[in-house]
Amino acid sequence: MLPLSFYRNLPKKICRECGCEIEEQHESYLFECERCMAKCEE
Ligand SMILES: [Zn+2]
Repeated sequence: MLPLSFYRNLPKKICRECGCEIEEQHESYLFECERCMAKCEE
């Protein structure tokens, strides 16, 4: 079993644009969620 404390210790990131939680995947230095990043690219 994976220790839950490992995940709890990870600080939740909030999108600076829409304020929703960012799911951390590969890059840990993202400031915007995927939706807002897609908007910026338009
Ligand atoms: Zn967002």
